Amino acid sequence: MAKTTARPQPGGGAGEWVPALGGCDHPGCGAAEAYRCHYVDRRQVECGRAGCRDHLRIVDGHGYCLRHASIVEVLRMAAARGTPLLPPDLDSRAASLGLTVSRGLEPGLGARLRRWAGLHHSILDDPTVRYGRPDRARVEQGRWERVWALGSRNGYLLRVLIRVEDDRPELVVLVADGVVLHQEVPPWISRRGPGFPAAESVEAQAERLAFFERLLAVVDAHASRLGLGGPGGRPGPIA
Ligand SMILES: [Zn+2]
Ligand SMILES: [Zn+2]
Repeated sequence: MAKTTARPQPGGGAGEWVPALGGCDHPGCGAAEAYRCHYVDRRQVECGRAGCRDHLRIVDGHGYCLRHASIVEVLRMAAARGTPLLPPDLDSRAASLGLTVSRGLEPGLGARLRRWAGLHHSILDDPTVRYGRPDRARVEQGRWERVWALGSRNGYLLRVLIRVEDDRPELVVLVADGVVLHQEVPPWISRRGPGFPAAESVEAQAERLAFFERLLAVVDAHASRLGLGGPGGRPGPIA
């Protein structure tokens, strides 16, 4: 199996090249022309870090950051030997917390969207947690986001997202229609660190459920300001 070391060829080759507006993310590199890493882990979290021509490597026609290029080569070797492996999780506390909270919110938020959508709105529900950077100047850190939305013919009726930022990997931020409505360090993080503990006490479970209830209550209040969630769960008129 040949290891590909060619430089990225945007617009050519088999892979997709997604330009990254903020330039290369490699520490100390100031290159402006950069592309997003193609790596997606087994939980559907995308790396999305940007690399320039020197800081991306091509494997199977796709560009990967240097860290993930090595991982993808190992995965290819394992598959060629007949012992396929799952792509390992991204090594990021912020990504892990974003994923944990998005999974915890999914049942309650998904049910609400289905109720509020009625006959006339579509649900935009992509389970991927995506990495992005808010500004080109890279003054702000990157962040991990998962979005739920209700669409209408005229655009978004409601757009809710959960965000965890790289420089505050313990804080969960809830944003609805562009406004930060709630920020909180989840109780299991303030106790022990990212991820649900393997064995939770009853008290810890109650705290965890209460955390998700608080987030859902914030979304409910926002939705009712938009006129959603009226009697019988039908969407009401939009204020
Ligand atoms: Zn670079
Ligand atoms: Zn990567």
